[in-house]
Amino acid sequence: MSGKDHIAVRFRAYPTEEQARQVNRTIGCVRFVYNLMLETRIAHYQTTWESCYPTPALYKDTYPFLREVDSFALCNAQLALEKAYKRFFEDRKTGFPKYKSKRRGRKTYTTNLSHGNIELDDKARRLKLPKLGWLAVRQHKRIPDDWKLKSVTVEHCPSGRYTATILFEYETQIPEKVRPVKTVGLDYASHGLYVSSDGEHAEYPGYYRKMQDKLAREQRKLSHMVKGSANWRKQCKRVARLYEKTANQRRDYQHKKANRIVASYDMVGVEALSMKSMMKKPGTKPDPERQGHYLPNGRKARKGLAKSTSDNGYGMFCTMLEYKLARQGKRLIRVDRWFPSSQLCHDCGYRNPQTKDLDVREWTCPQCGVMHDRDVNAARNIRDEAMRIIE
Ligand SMILES: [Zn+2]
Repeated sequence: MSGKDHIAVRFRAYPTEEQARQVNRTIGCVRFVYNLMLETRIAHYQTTWESCYPTPALYKDTYPFLREVDSFALCNAQLALEKAYKRFFEDRKTGFPKYKSKRRGRKTYTTNLSHGNIELDDKARRLKLPKLGWLAVRQHKRIPDDWKLKSVTVEHCPSGRYTATILFEYETQIPEKVRPVKTVGLDYASHGLYVSSDGEHAEYPGYYRKMQDKLAREQRKLSHMVKGSANWRKQCKRVARLYEKTANQRRDYQHKKANRIVASYDMVGVEALSMKSMMKKPGTKPDPERQGHYLPNGRKARKGLAKSTSDNGYGMFCTMLEYKLARQGKRLIRVDRWFPSSQLCHDCGYRNPQTKDLDVREWTCPQCGVMHDRDVNAARNIRDEAMRIIE
């Protein structure tokens, strides 16, 4: 059996001054047309009680500058708005679609392949985009010949850098389901990444932690500066650059760890974590990327946002593991977060309420006398619970 799969590859892009202006103009127009369409829909609904579906073409006569940017990007704004409405109708908790602000949100636009308007020149390390021409990119990965280019998302990052994320589609064989023989459980470790049921303590490398400390320091500096001043602006850029760097380092490390796990095991059990339980873990250093709650664009994060993003590290790692495993017909099992993984003695099943105290790093089972490392014992329980679920 075969199917289709997608993969996104991100390249650093080096636009000329003129190209950078065009990228920013396009991002601006996408936001502008998104807001116009939203306005039209709201006004139409208020007068007729009916929905309408405006297209970007509707505004091109009034605002001729919309003709100067990539029309696929504008079409994607229409799709994005339709998606926002759909999400709102399906789940009222998401809230009504909002106007896009110049300052908030990521600065991106997406364009699609149509009749050869996009080309990736493998040797010259450049990418042809509509209305932009050839854009220099740093290609770190050879693209297999059978990957089909679908779309490109151009981003102007808060650090001032540009990136192009290319989405490819490729044919894939749906893998045979693997019967789990080699299994592992992972216990989330706030100071590192995880502790495995086989006793592996996966810690982020030293250079990453150093970079995190540096980022926290620079963020603290930023919070003491006069908002809007020249120094403040300079510091924003510095924070954004460090922020992107730590994010890249973290992703890199997680990929390596995930690849190794997928190569050695057939089934991986993890805890389905809630934010709260993570905050309570011992030795929790607040994630410096969220510390002080400054976003890379120098704005103070809203409380809810800072919270919802701070579990990203481990959550992203689990998602990564899940799709890497799936490609080989293997499975990731999420164990209920109320499962008392750290309280149960793995050897005899005795439930030791004393381990609720998070400072207890090692303990001896009062029933069977076995000595436990808190995290390894928890990881073993997670592994067995995952196996119970799978069978
Ligand atoms: Zn015991």
